[in-house]
Amino acid sequence: MKPRIMTLGSHSALQILKGAKDENFETIVVVKKNYEITYRSFPVADEIIVIDEYPEFKQLESQLVDKQAILIPHGSLFAAISTQDLAHNKVMYFGEKEVLALEESRKRQRQWLLDAGLTMPRIYNSPEEIDGPAIVKFNGAGGGKGYFLAKNAEEFYDKIETRHPGSYMIQQYIIGNPIYVHYFYSPLTDELEIMSMDKRYETNVDSIGRISAKDQLDLDLQTSYNIMGNMPLVARESMLADMLRMGRSVVDESKKLTNRGMFGPFCLEMVITPDMKYYVFEISARIVAGSNPFVNGSPYSDLRYNVPMSTGRRIAREIKNALEQGRLDKVIT
Ligand code: ATP
Repeated sequence: MKPRIMTLGSHSALQILKGAKDENFETIVVVKKNYEITYRSFPVADEIIVIDEYPEFKQLESQLVDKQAILIPHGSLFAAISTQDLAHNKVMYFGEKEVLALEESRKRQRQWLLDAGLTMPRIYNSPEEIDGPAIVKFNGAGGGKGYFLAKNAEEFYDKIETRHPGSYMIQQYIIGNPIYVHYFYSPLTDELEIMSMDKRYETNVDSIGRISAKDQLDLDLQTSYNIMGNMPLVARESMLADMLRMGRSVVDESKKLTNRGMFGPFCLEMVITPDMKYYVFEISARIVAGSNPFVNGSPYSDLRYNVPMSTGRRIAREIKNALEQGRLDKVIT
């Protein structure tokens, strides 16, 4: 029996499943009740398994092992299964599980990126240290929900009162253009590709400009960064060299920190300033939802492939190549 491609019904599942079908895999989606309508509406899943609540996902383990399912992780998977539980789960997993712990710890992630030579925004260790624009980020917020800006300790304490409790990080706010670069690194060929790029569409920060500055002040508006969707982007061509170098050094550094290093899709989330400094504020070591506008490929993937190549399809292509070469162990944990 040939392995089947499986993912959780959310985030970038449509793209992943479509890409798998394009590479001639059978597909399975595991979806929470009330969301299956999406996966019935688009013909990309050969099998739809509906669960009542995400914790039930764990109970499917032996069924999925029997079906030779290969789990493709995305950002919503961690709502269904903790990284600790995933570590022991026997379902085939596309990617290096060891990288999850590296990414999950803010401290370790930061050290990884700094050791790779990237520039990052400053971290303020206490509100009293804030001496310029700062963005306050909550742990596990998911998609920038509740984040706010503060320019000094007083403003921080004013605003934190009305926000949700829990741990947070205070980061230097970089004024520039946020760009999310989607990469793919192949452990089979040691090639690094830029698949696509996006910018985000967030409420309310992306809609504040629709009302006049006077109204903004009168309404005492505060910005929030709750993600609604993603928009395609193509960068100035001269920036690609820097972006490729950054992606490569992050991959190289990950090989020093874990057994096999990071492979498959990943994303560097950065703000680029007018003096062309790239401030990377986060890495996602898997497919990001910003790749969803490119189900049919991107200008970058068009330069390399003669079929429409989404990141989802690129994952399936890597698994297919590994199977053909008898090297499946190179791409799964
Ligand atoms: P995800 O985990 O899905 O990437 P998130 O919850 O971590 O999302 P971020 O992407 O980190 O959210 O940030 C939300 C918003 O804040 C984005 O618009 C991003 O560009 C902006 N942002 C984050 N950090 C900074 C920074 N240091 N300077 C300027 N803008 C920032």
